Amino acid sequence: MREQQSIQYPAWYEEIALLRAKLHAAPELGHCEVMTTQLIKERLRAYGVEVLPFDLPTGVVGRLRGAKPGKILAIREDIDALPLQEDTGLPYASTVAGVSHACGHDIHAAALLGCAKQLAQQREALQGTVLFVFQCAEETFDGASTMLSKGIFQDESPDALVGFHCAPALPLGKIGLFSGVANASCDVITIRVIGKGGHGAHPDDCIDPIVTAAGLLMQLQTIVSRRNKATHPLVLTFGEFHGGSAPNIIPDEVLLRGTMRCMDNAFRLKRLEEIRTLCHSFCQSMGAQCEVVVEKGMPPLENAEDICTQLAESSRKVLGADCVVQDLTPSMGSDDFSCMLEVCKNHGAQYLLGTHLASLPQSGLGLHVAQCIFPSEALCPGVETLTQFALDYLK
Ligand SMILES: [Zn+2]
Ligand SMILES: [Zn+2]
Repeated sequence: MREQQSIQYPAWYEEIALLRAKLHAAPELGHCEVMTTQLIKERLRAYGVEVLPFDLPTGVVGRLRGAKPGKILAIREDIDALPLQEDTGLPYASTVAGVSHACGHDIHAAALLGCAKQLAQQREALQGTVLFVFQCAEETFDGASTMLSKGIFQDESPDALVGFHCAPALPLGKIGLFSGVANASCDVITIRVIGKGGHGAHPDDCIDPIVTAAGLLMQLQTIVSRRNKATHPLVLTFGEFHGGSAPNIIPDEVLLRGTMRCMDNAFRLKRLEEIRTLCHSFCQSMGAQCEVVVEKGMPPLENAEDICTQLAESSRKVLGADCVVQDLTPSMGSDDFSCMLEVCKNHGAQYLLGTHLASLPQSGLGLHVAQCIFPSEALCPGVETLTQFALDYLK
């Protein structure tokens, strides 16, 4: 429906779509979202939403207290861009070389501002408090933990947390909901294999870290195939293997970096411990040493059933009876929304916002694709579903 020329856009649409285009044209990488942060603060203040004074270089928390006391709802959207050259051909395409909003976070940020504006106009009817969390640095895995470490939920602990992510796989006007564990955890593992370098002709005088690391890499996959219960999804991927400078020199060390993803927190911690143990014992058996660092962890993202039910109900009010897509499968991808959700005792949910316009094939290409377009029309269901949910939840 929304692709038709005759569509009546809501009163807020023009301002928010222009703002979105502005954010899209000037994308900023994680922890560098200075202009974005400034713009969000200005708009929140203009709408009459309080900007909370947390010590954050980037990222913003806005607060709207309703006329009557009640529950606290936090709505979180991320605001950072990706290190990817845009190739959409849009008139408001990125003007920053090698940086673009290819994950739709400009839609996220603009929709949350639209929601803040809508709710601020209905403050008299609002029963409770809404925290608008504009999160920095989702793509670098550490924005949520950075903001949480500044105590954003310390004094006002949310009763629930919601947010959406753009989904080019779903039609515009639909939302995707998955109750239970929807996304995997993600931990970054760095392994430094330390040997003893020397001449390639005399490996007997050396401890070869390349052969050790190659053997270790294969052994590590047995954590997945032999240690892990087959009914529990686990993915271990090493995307970096660095070592050496010449074909005839055995280097001193090799660096491996990878990620582990799974759907269960207890298994996650157990597997990480097994990885650590295997690294040390395998390297020791080869006469080498190793250092293992696990960083930037985020837990699995588990959506609460009652919040999903309420999200479905609220969305149907604004998008129609058949707007909810529920036959989704969990993803081994991750989102650090889960770090914030964990602090909110997993009482919340992240839903998918369809952004695929049938008349615009480029809008169906997928996240992190240089040619993918996230149509501004997606702001309508984005703002409407967030706003309606807030009103219903705080009733
Ligand atoms: Zn992304
Ligand atoms: Zn994203």
